[in-house]
Amino acid sequence: MRRSFYIKAYGCQMNLYDAGVVKEILENDGYVLVDQENEAKVVLLLTCSVRNHAESRALGRLASLKRKGNGGRIVGILGCMAQNFKETLINQYGADLVVGPDGYRRLPELLNNCLNNQPPQICVQLNEECYEGIRPKPNGKVTGFVSIMRGCNNFCSYCIVPYVRGGERSKNFDDIIKEIEILSRDGIKDITLVGQNVLAYQKNGLDFCELIKLVQRIPDIERIRFITAHPKDFNQRVIDTLANLKKFCQGIHLPLQSGSNQVLEMMNRRYSREEYLQKIELTRKLIPDVVFTTDIMVGFPTETEEDFAATLDMVQRIRFDFAYMFQYSPRPQTKAINIKPVVDPKIAHKRLEHLIEFQNQITKENNQALINKELEVMIEAHNGKQSIARTRTNKIVIIDKIKPIGEITIAKVIDIRGWTPIGEIKNEEQEIK
Ligand code: SAM
Ligand code: SF4
Repeated sequence: MRRSFYIKAYGCQMNLYDAGVVKEILENDGYVLVDQENEAKVVLLLTCSVRNHAESRALGRLASLKRKGNGGRIVGILGCMAQNFKETLINQYGADLVVGPDGYRRLPELLNNCLNNQPPQICVQLNEECYEGIRPKPNGKVTGFVSIMRGCNNFCSYCIVPYVRGGERSKNFDDIIKEIEILSRDGIKDITLVGQNVLAYQKNGLDFCELIKLVQRIPDIERIRFITAHPKDFNQRVIDTLANLKKFCQGIHLPLQSGSNQVLEMMNRRYSREEYLQKIELTRKLIPDVVFTTDIMVGFPTETEEDFAATLDMVQRIRFDFAYMFQYSPRPQTKAINIKPVVDPKIAHKRLEHLIEFQNQITKENNQALINKELEVMIEAHNGKQSIARTRTNKIVIIDKIKPIGEITIAKVIDIRGWTPIGEIKNEEQEIK
């Protein structure tokens, strides 16, 4: 079919949200989304440039799509790699369409040109786009994501995001509230506010703390989360606000990156390990059930064995529930690319393996400690005869029974299978009577 499209998103939550934006724009223009790449006239790869590995995967995919001699199929590269590689994607890799993170509103026009046999199309201007008025459909039955801000001004020395997604800007709060109200009418009860640093939200004198209180007032929204929070902006006011917000779910993703003050400084993270620890302690005091998850990077230039030991020490002290762990990947345009000495990739890889093993053990122990605990869960989906539920702290619990989607109930954890807690609904007999 001439106007069918398939889209594959790589990378972070922001990209998954953007895939929804693209779908909405194209469907409003009469395009039809298909599940199978080979049924689509237009194949779009929504790419990530944060690490070299993500870029290589997308380039490999592009090459294989082009190799198939694709019978007039249009292959487009969208997102951060479009912004990073620009026309090289056309000249060296044969892409038919290249559109950066701020150009999706132009997709109907650019695709129309492609379909009318014009030369490859490109749009890589950064223009402070927030996609206000575009309302991506939710990807779950009861969970939804809403982008509240885009871009970043932090310039962590390893990170390409400010260069490919542009400067920080916030969406109007009335647009955000409207988007959440529409989602809630569609049955969404659990909402995640998304942005590179949601704590930097600032629009017409309203900041993140005020925004999240407005979200709490939307009646059918039962649970509120956010991702990601920069530790330097995670302050007493934010912690106090969250502690007093009934619908806030007590899972906080607070990327640590490194436990060494020297490395944190070289990374331009603008907090010390001591400040990070104090914030964790204060939060645990004010929000007793809170759990922390994080991002950690190893092998940043100059990182010594002592620096790495300081990272392990922080992991041991904080006992994160979960961590995304990465080996440093040099990125074009960033300051870190000139920081010397670099860490031998083999040593960095060993550190990564060590860290993963260390953190995984903690994650396992934290999960084991849930046995016999009674947790509030929301049923999100069914898998055969089981219900898949989520705790307030963002853990998936499997319940060996079909319960209605959207129901919030108390589950007692009776076992851990692999990594996953198995729950039993409390007071089931009473409920059935
Ligand atoms: N804005 C978020 C923040 O500051 O926490 C993170 C955005 S970034 C897309 C997600 C994670 O990728 C970062 O927290 C970092 O751990 C990792 N990352 C970013 N640049 C990297 C690089 N050059 N090499 C390896 N990992 C990187
Ligand atoms: Fe990248 Fe730092 Fe901005 Fe996060 S805060 S997107 S790591 S520059």
